[in-house]
Amino acid sequence: MTGDSHLLPAARSLYSYMISAAPPRPKSAIAILGATGSIGQATLQVLQSLGAPWRAVGVSAHSQVEQLAEIAQSARPPLLAATCPESANRLDSKSLPQDCQLLLGPEALVEIARSPQVDTVVAAIVGSAGLLSTLAAAEAGKRVALANKEALVVAGQLVKDALGRSGGDLIPVDSEHSAIFQAIHAGAARDVSRIILTASGGPFRTWSADQIAAATVQDALAHPTWQMGRKITIDSATMMNKALEIIEARWLFDLRSDQIQVVVHPQSIIHSLVEFVDGSVVAQLSPPDMRLPIQYALTYPDRTDCPCPKMDWSAGMQLDLEPADTERFPALELGWEVARRGGSCGAVLNAANEAAVQAFLAGDLRFPQICEGCRRILDEHHYDPNPALDEIMRLDRWAREEIHRWVTAC
Ligand code: NAD
Ligand code: MG
Repeated sequence: MTGDSHLLPAARSLYSYMISAAPPRPKSAIAILGATGSIGQATLQVLQSLGAPWRAVGVSAHSQVEQLAEIAQSARPPLLAATCPESANRLDSKSLPQDCQLLLGPEALVEIARSPQVDTVVAAIVGSAGLLSTLAAAEAGKRVALANKEALVVAGQLVKDALGRSGGDLIPVDSEHSAIFQAIHAGAARDVSRIILTASGGPFRTWSADQIAAATVQDALAHPTWQMGRKITIDSATMMNKALEIIEARWLFDLRSDQIQVVVHPQSIIHSLVEFVDGSVVAQLSPPDMRLPIQYALTYPDRTDCPCPKMDWSAGMQLDLEPADTERFPALELGWEVARRGGSCGAVLNAANEAAVQAFLAGDLRFPQICEGCRRILDEHHYDPNPALDEIMRLDRWAREEIHRWVTAC
């Protein structure tokens, strides 16, 4: 693991957007795709606290159209999208301000992502449903504030290529990747030797393998440190979230999989660490609150006051670091494997996981079967080293169908 070899010229180009694209003016016209979710709501709070000229110019919701109408009334974005056609029927157009344009269906996300009214797209949709709009924002040269890690897991190469053509920039919102992005500024990109992603360990950090095998949906949804959407909360319990983050980091920072380490840190204060070739380690710390990385992705390279709680250095605290246990949490190995193999593996792993999590939440799978199903489908698929978008979409559908077939047979 040497200084220069890991940041290949082509790979370094993505990282260069992240560090050199200092905006000439704040990119203050924000589209929030997935505005009704946990990240979407936190983004609205950040915009409110930043004040003018920061504003939401586009927001989307899938099924929670009543909440979308409330956002429309308070934030008054000119563009609104309701992506689930059945739920959109419940929307009473009289409940919307007259100056809001309502767009319907999944294509509306792409339209907002490309709109000339938008500077920055906060990609806050969960799952591969966020892929096309994230790609559209990258192609349109927007700033992409990326929470939707699945888009990079599924199609990291395509997103990167799109940014290369358009000159757009990509700033991570995921707390670990935001931490790395902040810490990595302490040295030259070529001098990064490895990064260390922290993981809370989720609700089962101290559980035995037998206890984990019997975990219920309620157990898995009880995250100790973060309040998040249901899918990412289950991913945190299996540690598939960290696996997806290994893959996300591989694309964001152009590292080999063996340069990405995971350490369990139950307090979720140290958000991640970067080690440079001289052995110096630089970390980013703050209380666990997503508004900080969201705001940083919006205002970068500037920093400004943030509504989050600050560290209390007078109180004394304990910061624990423990090795990650790949025996009890086999999802982690999937992350390193997929980060190493690339190609079609990300699309297959992500779709299998989304379908398996859905089945677990519906009571159709036991907790350990989520990873078992992902391993099975990943091993069964025909590897494609360089899949185009239509092949990625086909593999996404295929992996979901395979999981459904397997669940039915279980
Ligand atoms: P959430 O479930 O709270 O919200 C998801 C949003 O996506 C909602 O607005 C919903 O309307 C929309 N959505 C769902 N299905 C859709 C579909 N098929 N088409 C269009 N829109 C759809 O999820 P979240 O916790 O806010 O997570 C969003 C993304 O951010 C995920 O990729 C997650 O991994 C990532 N992330 C979340 C956190 C967190 O603290 N919540 C932290 C880091 C990264
Ligand atoms: Mg994270």
